[in-house]
Amino acid sequence: MIRISGPIPLPSYMQLCLHDPAQGYYANRNAIGTAGDFITAPEISQMFGELIGVWCVSVWQAMGSPSSFVLAEAGPGKGTLMADLLRAATPVPGFRDAAKIRLIEASPLMIEQQKGRLGGCGYDVQWCNSLDGLPGGPIILVANEFLDCLPMRQFVKSGDIWRERCIGLDDHGKLVNVLGAAALEATRLPDLHEAEPDGAVFETAPARQAWIEQLATRINTEGGAALLIDYGHAASGFGDTFQAMRSQKYAEPLTEPGNADLTSHIDFAAVAEAAQNTGSVVSPTITQAQFLLAMGLMERAGSLGEGKDDAQQREISLAVERLASPEAMGELFKVLALADPSTAGKLAGLPPFAPAPSTRSN
Ligand code: SAH
Repeated sequence: MIRISGPIPLPSYMQLCLHDPAQGYYANRNAIGTAGDFITAPEISQMFGELIGVWCVSVWQAMGSPSSFVLAEAGPGKGTLMADLLRAATPVPGFRDAAKIRLIEASPLMIEQQKGRLGGCGYDVQWCNSLDGLPGGPIILVANEFLDCLPMRQFVKSGDIWRERCIGLDDHGKLVNVLGAAALEATRLPDLHEAEPDGAVFETAPARQAWIEQLATRINTEGGAALLIDYGHAASGFGDTFQAMRSQKYAEPLTEPGNADLTSHIDFAAVAEAAQNTGSVVSPTITQAQFLLAMGLMERAGSLGEGKDDAQQREISLAVERLASPEAMGELFKVLALADPSTAGKLAGLPPFAPAPSTRSN
């Protein structure tokens, strides 16, 4: 494509590398887990999905325990989070009969893994490939490490202009970064952009913004809430966060198209703004550590460890460390929730809506 029609912007490159039906990453690679390219929180410990299950039950009850609602997950990976979530939520009377599980998943390979994991769970489970495929009614949606795979654009400061970064070919046919003709208006840049040096990068993610707007609009009209967890920053800023992961290591995003996972960090301020513009109520952005600790991570770890041998106890403390310590996932990962105004009014005591733990990020 590049040889024939010239350099392509990052969103096209990401979309092709991740989702090409024949050669795309998600069509071919065993992405997640110790044998895959990256490990996610649900794969580290069952406690992660269980605490999210407690969150979903709290929201459902705050909504008045509707007798039918959509429990959706975007980008469910191996289905582990949903399996753990359901195990924690199922004992709550009425929950199983009320919940219609809908998994939003683009990759046929992943759908097979999710079917294997959730087959026989006793719930009505169905798949769709976008928000459009969800049935009507109140909704509770969760998404862990989903927003980071949605395509983003980069703009590079060159003189007074911020020009779009594209992918082109050098004289040897190798993929390289080039600057395209499109530019970003200064009004869309964070303050202090004039102080940034030449070569500074600013990222926008129109596809992510559009997805959030669609989700928030759906939540406003039918009632409900969403919990979004991902790596990123609470305030908009400058910097190149385009990254590739292969076999648990960072790789160069341009060297192995289709063989490495491509993602970028989430600008949570931009996500919050997109949701707020539709009339949704948005929580503060807090860290994964703050969220999990406020949801009872230590208590859950304690009860999970009861009666277990030393090795199993050690494994549980290690999982707590990986999920919540600042050196691991605790601070880089952020949590943000949104809800329709009526539901949000009843979630004031639930993290991340709840009043700030003392070390809230900003
Ligand atoms: N939430 C899981 C998996 C994260 S990986 C976990 O925490 O382990 C990202 C997931 O999103 C994968 O299942 C991938 O196939 C899916 N995905 C990526 N882009 C998507 C898109 N545009 N639409 C639907 N699913 C997508």
